Amino acid sequence: MKEMFKINQFNLMASEMIALNRSLPDVRLEGCKNKLYPDNLPRTSVVIVFHNEAWSTLLRTVRSVIDRSPHTLLEEIVLVDDASERDFLKRPLEQYVKRLEVPVRVVRMEQRSGLIRARLKGASISTGQVITFLDAHCECTTGWLEPLLARIKLDKKTVVCPIIDVISDDTFEYMAGSDMTYGGFNWKLNFRWYPVPQREMDRRKGDRTLPVRTPTMAGGLFSIDRDYFQEIGTYDAGMDIWGGENLEISFRIWQCGGTLEIVTCSHVGHVFRKATPYTFPGGTGQIINKNNRRLAEVWMDEFKNFFYIISPGVTKVDYGDITSRASLRQKLQCKPFSWYLENVYPDSQIPRHYYSLGEIRNVETNQCLDNMARKENEKVGIFNCHGMGGVLCKHKQNNQSVSSEFATYQERCKQTCQHFSTMEMTEPIA
Ligand code: UDP
Ligand code: MN
Repeated sequence: MKEMFKINQFNLMASEMIALNRSLPDVRLEGCKNKLYPDNLPRTSVVIVFHNEAWSTLLRTVRSVIDRSPHTLLEEIVLVDDASERDFLKRPLEQYVKRLEVPVRVVRMEQRSGLIRARLKGASISTGQVITFLDAHCECTTGWLEPLLARIKLDKKTVVCPIIDVISDDTFEYMAGSDMTYGGFNWKLNFRWYPVPQREMDRRKGDRTLPVRTPTMAGGLFSIDRDYFQEIGTYDAGMDIWGGENLEISFRIWQCGGTLEIVTCSHVGHVFRKATPYTFPGGTGQIINKNNRRLAEVWMDEFKNFFYIISPGVTKVDYGDITSRASLRQKLQCKPFSWYLENVYPDSQIPRHYYSLGEIRNVETNQCLDNMARKENEKVGIFNCHGMGGVLCKHKQNNQSVSSEFATYQERCKQTCQHFSTMEMTEPIA
């Protein structure tokens, strides 16, 4: 089991023991189970990109789409192979999907391109009015599709995400996700889940079965009208491998006149991993920082400085040419980032008005106010100025003798990182 875990960074042995068409609990709110939807909903193509995915998780994703979607609403499933290096994902996969009850097409990227360009390829060859993106290790539950399509039918500028349930990377147990969390991000531009604020509960008059307006999407699972996807500029094809594209499309949707929602009556499971199983050609940090810089430079206006000040190393990373994305923003007459913070994400950690950005340093002792990796609302401490911004977990001592203060500091860093282990993929524990 431990050996097989390394292949995909989840318990592959458990996955292989579970049927491809296993039953799942109906985790919907009671009020969702008897909702009625119009019967002329738009049809969707389901686009699933993968790189070296396991057979069982990939085909369980496909099976769950086929088994739990009305076939009248399912145009096709498109599998985009991002240059995988597994023989079973070549001809055996093509042979297998031929026998399925819904048209399943397999297309291949000529070279490793990353999930962004792979999704673009899948979108471009698909034909449904709606495009639904899923990761390659998902399971759709009863009634997942209709509420998503119904929102798009009502307004094609609405981009919708299901509640993402948790499939344990250890046991493959299916656990309901919460309808009381939504998407945000922190100063390092990491996607994070946060509690749905009171204002959003009030707007829905306390009805938890109504869609939640969310500042950001997690990224892997969403549906969008094909024409609207084109209209707002699909994805930034200058982004590589993984990361940043979810915040980029989230900011773009909101700033350019769309709406982003979590449809709480739609539940899809996803295997959340603690580490990534595949390579990032060119270096993980390099790639994620490049993608994040593209996103910050195009969409965040002066607020990009929060990101740069908290991760000073980032400004050394080359982000390539962004002129076409900048002119897209111009063409669509998108609103400033301050509008987004004010109206869509007022509970953001980024202050909308501030006096100065920087550090508070005692020039005599060279010590700085430091959050000591403590949580929000806890007291700050004093620590040697490290000039590394908020990248606490990476802090390394040059010197082998560790002071007691430093030891507790390191311990706290570790705890903080471990606490966020499922989300904090970009900052390895030092
Ligand atoms: N993926 C891909 N090419 C890549 C990296 C990822 O096609 O270079 C696929 C991957 O197989 C998965 C999806 O993109 O289906 C999202 O990646 P992952 O699941 O690793 O991201 P996470 O869910 O951990 O954020
Ligand atoms: Mn995933």
